[in-house]
Amino acid sequence: DPVIRFEAARKEYPDGTVAVEGLDLDVREHELLALVGPSGCGKSTILRMANRLVELTSGRVLVEGTDVAQVDPVRLRRRIGYVIQDVGLFPHRTVAQNIGTVPALLGWDARRTRSRTAELLELVGLEPGTYARRYPHQLSGGERQRVGVARALAVDPPVLLMDEPFGAVDPEGRRRLQQEFWRIQRELGTTVMLVTHDIDEAVRLGDRIAVLSRGGHLEQLSDAVELLAR
Ligand code: ADP
Ligand code: ADP
Repeated sequence: DPVIRFEAARKEYPDGTVAVEGLDLDVREHELLALVGPSGCGKSTILRMANRLVELTSGRVLVEGTDVAQVDPVRLRRRIGYVIQDVGLFPHRTVAQNIGTVPALLGWDARRTRSRTAELLELVGLEPGTYARRYPHQLSGGERQRVGVARALAVDPPVLLMDEPFGAVDPEGRRRLQQEFWRIQRELGTTVMLVTHDIDEAVRLGDRIAVLSRGGHLEQLSDAVELLAR
């Protein structure tokens, strides 16, 4: 069964903009599905339908077999991590406190959160002793992005939604971050939907690539390997 399934998903914003229309799409377990397409074609809207940041106008989105509209928001947070371009770290909270946000919501005790935080910082290549107590403004763009990934993975969600996650990172740092993220995703087996306007990133990281046109129309859905062979 797919981990995420879009069924005739449609989103019309209150101002009448139809961002996504008639979308049918399955995201398979453990795959990284990259969504590419021109700016404004509905990629972010599609992603945000899956974690209920956007309510559908009609159709449905199933996550792990359940209509997201029926899933309680706290449970959804536990199952789906979310990473965006400028990360949205809380500026007045330390790196460790940022990573501990969802664990706190779930009532984890301090000890468990602390050891998980250290583990995650190691995973994303930041030395816990150096970074746990820093504030976001004391980090480089690439380091903030790493913390964003660590925070999204805090409670080990089976699904990760990523919207231009490396967009704010300089080209060199971006390449390294992509590689490291690829390794992490393989290691954890996380199912990922990745929005990017960077076709190179899509091919580098994606198992499958969905090419969209305006209105969230699926133009093409291919295995990255096939795409590369052409
Ligand atoms: P992408 O991520 O591919 O750039 P979006 O999903 O952000 O596309 O946007 C798709 C379309 O919906 C665009 O025309 C955009 O202007 C519009 N849109 C996005 N968010 C809103 C909103 N909150 N209200 C009205 N229109 C929106
Ligand atoms: P405070 O002084 O408010 O406790 P800190 O930033 O020192 O703020 O710690 C916030 C959280 O980060 C605490 O839960 C703490 O246990 C955790 N923490 C601090 N240092 C580390 C570390 N090296 N590794 C993992 N977690 C840490």
